[in-house]
Amino acid sequence: MALSGLDIYKLLPKTNCRQCGFSTCLAFAMALAKKQVALDKCPFINPEVKSALEEASLPPMRLVAIGSGENKVEVGGEAVMFRHEEKFHHPAAIGFIIGDDTSDKELENKIKVINGLSFERVGQTIAVNLIAVKQNGSADNFIKKVDLIYKSSNLALVLISSDINALEGALSKYSDKKPLIYAATDKNISEFAKLAKKYSVPLAICENDLEKLEQLAQKAGQEGLNDVILDSGKKPISAKIEDLTFIRRLALKKKRRSVGYPVLSIAENDNPFQEAIEAGIYIVKYSSIVLIKTIEAWQALALLTLRQNIYTDPQKPLQVEPKAYSIGQVNEQSPVMVTTNFSLSYYTVLGEVEASKVPSYIISVDTEGMSVLTAWAAEKFTPDKITESLGKSGIKDKIKHNSLIIPGYVSVMSGDLEEKSGWKIIVGPKEASGLPSFLKKL
Ligand code: SF4
Repeated sequence: MALSGLDIYKLLPKTNCRQCGFSTCLAFAMALAKKQVALDKCPFINPEVKSALEEASLPPMRLVAIGSGENKVEVGGEAVMFRHEEKFHHPAAIGFIIGDDTSDKELENKIKVINGLSFERVGQTIAVNLIAVKQNGSADNFIKKVDLIYKSSNLALVLISSDINALEGALSKYSDKKPLIYAATDKNISEFAKLAKKYSVPLAICENDLEKLEQLAQKAGQEGLNDVILDSGKKPISAKIEDLTFIRRLALKKKRRSVGYPVLSIAENDNPFQEAIEAGIYIVKYSSIVLIKTIEAWQALALLTLRQNIYTDPQKPLQVEPKAYSIGQVNEQSPVMVTTNFSLSYYTVLGEVEASKVPSYIISVDTEGMSVLTAWAAEKFTPDKITESLGKSGIKDKIKHNSLIIPGYVSVMSGDLEEKSGWKIIVGPKEASGLPSFLKKL
């Protein structure tokens, strides 16, 4: 059970020496209780009470790393139920399951597709994180397929097997790559936990009954294994959501350490649309790892986009730098248009301008990341603001005309803007999708 700020304060030296950066021991204690500061900031803590305080400084959900190097993925470490309370910190890892009965040629093709599932969206790269290889045949074949995957991909691996010899064979070669073992059950928890401990790799535990799942996690802990992932097994989606919510609430609200681990969910459906929907639900409802069977680029793009939205800080919208952007081979007669610095607005306009093949300038106005209509309503996208942005952008030095295209939704400001800026205002289409034909006619 986590300690309160006052509980922690009672254990501190109470000298108010300020070496931790806080003006009093009480302030440090309060910050430690909220996980806002590291315990080692106070150099005077008695070793005898250190372990109790270390417990208090741990996050309610453990952060677990899978893989190594630049493709290492960290999952868990969350502190809130809902993203509006703070934000979600570690995006759900998304991966695809491949059976080891896949032929070498087909496996290589699948790996090639998975390696390529990386997209640019609103200025960020979003990509798949995991490959899960599932044992369907002999241990030797499983190890051979693990070899082949590691030779063809740098992504982190999940080793799906109930065969301890197959797992040990793979781990003896690749433990430094820190694959995730999936999954221990009540039949093998001790052996699997010992194996994971021996090779310092994380272990997933799968059990349908939540109470038993918690007991298995405790058993893994007794074997000295801390890097645990929970899975409540295959169930109807509604039952799964119930489990995922229950585990999250117990871990974050009740601070129950025995379930304070990231959760893994598998979406397996013969219908790829249903599978993508199921995977999307698991991303939204608290799964830290989501594995799916079908490997389709559209599935990956949809799920990665959903994940990007869920794991964006709702209080800090994605923004682009407010400035003049030149699109294509611009010249002195190229059209100039204005939008906001909300990433989604800017990149939507950018996509349509590129599609039009009409070289143009886009001026992004600093609206603190608000979209056009929101910014206009909040008086962040006003004639004064746009005039100021035009001046700062230096666009006048790049062109020899005086026309500015504004979004159709804010046509109401055209007269005022014309007066304040001295530019001739052209009202553009309401939706960015209207830009290609609009620009071609212009
Ligand atoms: S460094 Fe330790 S003793 Fe000094 S004020 Fe901070 S908590 Fe108190």
